[in-house]
Amino acid sequence: MDIAIIGAGLAGVMVARRLHEAGHAVTLFEKSRGAGGRMATRRTEGFAFDHGAPYFFAESAGFRAFLAPRIKSGLVARWRGRFVRLTADETAHAVDQERFVTVPAMNALCKTLAEDTPLRTQVQIAPIQKPHELHDSDGNALGRFDWIVSTAPGPQTAALFGDLAPVALAPDHMTGGFTTMLGFTQAPEPGWDVAEVDHPIIASIIRNSAKPGRTGDGAAFVIHARSDWSEPRIDEPPEAVQPLLADAFTRITGIDAGAAAYATTHRWRYAHAHAGLPDGCIFAPEVGLAACGDWCVGGGVEAAFHSASALADHLTE
Ligand SMILES: Cc1cc2nc3c(=O)[nH]c(=O)nc-3n(C[C@H](O)[C@H](O)[C@H](O)COP(=O)(O)OP(=O)(O)OC[C@H]3O[C@@H](n4cnc5c(N)ncnc54)[C@H](O)[C@@H]3O)c2cc1C
Repeated sequence: MDIAIIGAGLAGVMVARRLHEAGHAVTLFEKSRGAGGRMATRRTEGFAFDHGAPYFFAESAGFRAFLAPRIKSGLVARWRGRFVRLTADETAHAVDQERFVTVPAMNALCKTLAEDTPLRTQVQIAPIQKPHELHDSDGNALGRFDWIVSTAPGPQTAALFGDLAPVALAPDHMTGGFTTMLGFTQAPEPGWDVAEVDHPIIASIIRNSAKPGRTGDGAAFVIHARSDWSEPRIDEPPEAVQPLLADAFTRITGIDAGAAAYATTHRWRYAHAHAGLPDGCIFAPEVGLAACGDWCVGGGVEAAFHSASALADHLTE
């Protein structure tokens, strides 16, 4: 079969790999410059920031079995960091929960999994008008496919499928958020590596440079705003919310955000999924459309893995 896959995040590269291994002709289309999706890494002079998923959990036997050889090869590492919850009175309580990261950056897992699959980057797929036919956002025809698989976040998949959508997708299925990145040449030491914070604006702060396999002399901090704070202002420019996040960072950590050598803020319009679909994926042979992604299972990297696995099982049956 000829299969087009939209999106090269974990779900897209996983399903592509499974179908490629089963002997199908697969092409991945990704609108950004490379694989990774929300397992994203931004590099700038002297600093690297994993500004999407900072780490992930592995609860299920299936996901742990998938990770095992990759832990052995060094692509995935267990992060034995100092994890705390900072309460409103600024007390730090240790949090003991096993977390994993990919090495040397969070986008490395998707980049490695995509190695054997034809990947066309910087191609934004336009809403699908006719079953089996794909066009880019400039109107160029990309070919006819037996299957078109979307792994774009739920609301974007709903827009891509339009009237052809085989199931209704709730528009409030996912929430967005702002993420501020601060790079310091003189590395300050807050006494922890990840702080989940009881705060009206900030959800968590990650000392990115403390993760396994990261190099460099400075310190890179990633600050995730709360979804419920971000959502009402999600259309504001990231530069407009950055001073609020930087100021909150300074108050929480005692580290002067104004001393950062690098500072920027990213808007995630769709960051977190809050619900799933009954089957964990969409599979509609009558229109040759399928979909998978974290939002089909309930959110997070492990959910993206399970949704991709469920869809690959259907498509290879
Ligand atoms: C700020 C933040 C914090 C997070 N924290 C955690 C965490 O602590 N733990 C955890 O497990 N998970 C976390 N996550 C969620 C995790 O990143 C996702 O669950 C996972 O990466 C989803 O993978 P996916 O393949 O389903 O989707 P995505 O990674 O979103 O992949 C979809 C891809 O489709 C592409 N695309 C979309 N539309 C088009 C189009 N029209 N044409 C071409 N390409 C298109 C996108 O560019 C993207 O690359 C976080 C995410 C964010 C943003």
